[in-house]
Amino acid sequence: MPVLRFKALEASVSRQAATVTPPSAKISDFFGNNVFMVDTMQKFLSKEVYKEVIGAIDSGKQIDRKVAEQVATAMMAWAISKGATHYTHWFQPLTGATAEKHDSFFELSSDNKPIENFSGSALAQQEPDASSFPSGGIRNTFEARGYTAWDPSSPAFIIESRSGKTLCIPTIFVSYTGETLDYKAPLLKVLHELDQAAVPVCQYFDKNVNRVFATLGLEQEYFLIDMDIFNARPDLEMTGRTLFGHAPAKGQQLEDHYFGSIPSRVSSFMSELEIESQKLGIPLKTRHNEVAPSQFECAPVFEEINLAVDHNQLLMDVMDKVAKRHHFKVLLHEKPYSGINGSGKHNNWSLSTNTGKNLLTPGNTPKTNLMFLTFFVNTIKAVSEYADLLRASIASAGNDHRLGANEAPPAIISIFLGEQLTAVLNDIEKRVKNTKMSPEEKSEVKINIGRIPEILLDNTDRNRTSPFAFTGNKFELRAVGSAANCSGPMTVLNLIVAHQLKKFHASVEALIKKGQKKDDAILRVLRQYIVESKNILFEGNGYSDEWMKEARKRGLSNVTTTAHALDFMISKEAKKLYAENGIYTSREIEARHEILVEQYIKKIQIEARVMGLLANNHIIPAAIKYQKILAETVAGMQAAGIRGAAIKTHTELIREISEHISVIKNKSDEMVEARKRANKLTNPRQQANAYCDKVRPFFETIRYHVDKLELVVDDEMWPLPKYREMVSVK
Ligand code: ADP
Ligand code: MG
Repeated sequence: MPVLRFKALEASVSRQAATVTPPSAKISDFFGNNVFMVDTMQKFLSKEVYKEVIGAIDSGKQIDRKVAEQVATAMMAWAISKGATHYTHWFQPLTGATAEKHDSFFELSSDNKPIENFSGSALAQQEPDASSFPSGGIRNTFEARGYTAWDPSSPAFIIESRSGKTLCIPTIFVSYTGETLDYKAPLLKVLHELDQAAVPVCQYFDKNVNRVFATLGLEQEYFLIDMDIFNARPDLEMTGRTLFGHAPAKGQQLEDHYFGSIPSRVSSFMSELEIESQKLGIPLKTRHNEVAPSQFECAPVFEEINLAVDHNQLLMDVMDKVAKRHHFKVLLHEKPYSGINGSGKHNNWSLSTNTGKNLLTPGNTPKTNLMFLTFFVNTIKAVSEYADLLRASIASAGNDHRLGANEAPPAIISIFLGEQLTAVLNDIEKRVKNTKMSPEEKSEVKINIGRIPEILLDNTDRNRTSPFAFTGNKFELRAVGSAANCSGPMTVLNLIVAHQLKKFHASVEALIKKGQKKDDAILRVLRQYIVESKNILFEGNGYSDEWMKEARKRGLSNVTTTAHALDFMISKEAKKLYAENGIYTSREIEARHEILVEQYIKKIQIEARVMGLLANNHIIPAAIKYQKILAETVAGMQAAGIRGAAIKTHTELIREISEHISVIKNKSDEMVEARKRANKLTNPRQQANAYCDKVRPFFETIRYHVDKLELVVDDEMWPLPKYREMVSVK
């Protein structure tokens, strides 16, 4: 009998919810306790130094050495008062995870006395051994050096673990020759460009605006599974998803899980997750069940984008750690279970100003509404022009299973606006003229713009099948995968919007120079954008076949696999965009592309290996054992003189099992050959395509036959926990 599966099941049913006691009944009492927040800083720093740091954070300027020295001293004093013994530069290498290298504050002074020390230079810069992080060939081994540099705009925090407490300093990671090797550095560059591009546009409407930043609220979906059951599934352990498993008799058809009551063990986990996150300054606010069984979601209150991304990276780590304490494993993979909804990470995005205005909220006067329309239409135009690049930014082996799977947005990028705003854009297109407009016509346009309702009907007018939807005061990019570092797609989105705003400003200025009034110039350029971006607007059902056809007619790309989608990253237009805005050199973007291609290859390679191993070492032996019992039964029946129809069922079952076994065996052998051929290719792009088009197709066939065996083989002999057992979390 397969010991592991049954032991795991037994252990999981008897498990009780752990008790979780919050440090205080009021969240505000402990929120940010483990963060060197602005008000903590104020307590630990002199007035002048504090002002300099805040100024540097707001302007994005570098902090000078002397100030860094004082911040380091203050940070250490604070960290030690909290019980921290070590510090680390916390960064986001291109592996997708976060990285840390711990040093202790402990030092020996010049006269050999033990002391605690943390210098400004240790705060500002570190040299982790960078050779083990991906660099896409940028860093040859002889120059295997990279360094991390402090990002003062994201506050330091303390991570608690059983072995002690560590002060973590958010940093960027760059090679010694200056190329960015992480997710944070390009995002920071883009945010600077965005600010530069958006402020002059804001000033058409409001002279008080001198800073524009992006805001981001991330809804994180995930699955929970009992740790013992997880451990009995080598495929989940090694690839993050189940490579086999027949759909349960009761799946999500009844939709009784969504917004249903949260199981008590899960609810304990969530409580502790919230407490631990809130201590770290992550403003988690919402939690609920998701559509699929054992799927959940949590969402923080939105924040400035750089912080929101850091917090999401941190959240994913905290989830994993807290889950272990509750004997759960968190599955962040986009599609852990076939036939059951996958997980995404909705990126709710908007733009905000130093004056506290959300630029994507309609106002109540023609002027504020024209400001809203300007940012609204420019965003649409940006996405319409660079849809393929946005598609590439969400590509990953895991997300391939989700996009277009009738539960997640399709791989076609389109934009949903809702009825009201679609009408507003149509109206502008109709009324605004390129020739001289009469004063009556002008005032009519203005009156109509002034009528855009302040509160849009976002809740009734929702389209969940759109990858990029306007939801009343923000856009929601829904196509991002649950395991992703959102910096990737957010770097692209903010860059294309920044780039677009620069072009917009230039066009408006050109018209003003020709003697047009500012408002007329703005309206004319917006009208042109509306006409040019129509192709990407879609209000219908994104899951439907009609949309696939319609999108093809419109010439929109529908690239369903990562291997092919990544090509957009290094297209001529993409390289030009990156170079013009000073984000990546051609070498940098090619290196990044190569890293992602290699990651893709490795993922599919591992899946193929695990599949072969499981099929041959777990599934086929179990099927043969059962077959043997059947054969013995048949022999026994024959010996007793039973013949004909009476033993037909048995012999047919034996034949059926044989057939499945032989397909599984043959196909996995063929898959090994396909892999060998792919491995011989030296060009990474060709290799990725071979894995995508020649290796991956075997997965489905092999899985089909394994899942058929699952239905006939004696349940007691089946080695892997079944879907029903994995998704029923109590
Ligand atoms: P849902 O999409 O599930 O209805 P909400 O609309 O309430 O949920 O919000 C989803 C996420 O969007 C939350 O994280 C919220 O903080 C965030 N959000 C709300 N306003 C903004 C904004 N202006 N910029 C960025 N994110 C926002
Ligand atoms: Mg949402």
